[in-house]
Amino acid sequence: MNRTKKSFLVAGNWKMNPSSHKEAKKIFKEIKSVAQKSRTVQTVVFPPFVYLNEITNDVIKKCSLGAQDIFWEEEGSYTGQISASMIKSYKAQYVLLGHSELRALGETDAVINKKLKTVLKHELKPIVCVGEQIRDTEGWYLHTIKTQIEVCFVGIAKKSIKDIVIAYEPVWAIGKGATREATKEEAGEMAIYIKRVISTLYDTATASIVRVIYGGSVNTKNCMSFLEAGHVDGLLVGRESLSSKKFGEIIGLVDGIK
Ligand code: PEP
Repeated sequence: MNRTKKSFLVAGNWKMNPSSHKEAKKIFKEIKSVAQKSRTVQTVVFPPFVYLNEITNDVIKKCSLGAQDIFWEEEGSYTGQISASMIKSYKAQYVLLGHSELRALGETDAVINKKLKTVLKHELKPIVCVGEQIRDTEGWYLHTIKTQIEVCFVGIAKKSIKDIVIAYEPVWAIGKGATREATKEEAGEMAIYIKRVISTLYDTATASIVRVIYGGSVNTKNCMSFLEAGHVDGLLVGRESLSSKKFGEIIGLVDGIK
């Protein structure tokens, strides 16, 4: 495969960090200074909602802003929720959906499906997270991923698939509770499998354009391995994205892939 023309998405999910808006602004500015030099990487940072206002003026094409979640209704009596128009007013272009930490609080695939429809309606770019809790030896984890995609994509038109990114995030490899890192083979095989599920739901042409990124304990040492095999279109980085130095290094390394 000719890698010179391929572009990668490198996303940073800050979760409920950092603890001050000053720090958030500083980290974003430092990330942006690296991101703006890249040729093949689109960087996107997902800060907590309350920091969008701080960062919005620093957004550039190569370094976008995203929201960590969204509510599916447009407005009304929904205490604590944030709408698509609200986040759009801060120049956020991307929305993270179905992160395992939200699923752990009760978010279902049916709810993610409603949110996905709202995100697409507002011409925002969704990153839909899927991932199994455990890697069993019988292959049931494949069934889990298939079901997550089938339910999340109910009623999603074929023409919208090009605008959707799917993040494969095995729960066992995420965050401080990770039991181990995924291998590049595991990430690559799942990217192929996810594309196969999309081809069954739609067709092979559609599957060939859907972008699949990998997330779970990505760091400066392992980031290249997930991309080199050629099936993964980018990375979703948690902890390491809060260090502008490490995240910047990841962006630089990915940008160097030929
Ligand atoms: C995440 O939570 O999306 C994630 C990938 O976290 P980490 O990189 O810290 O494992």
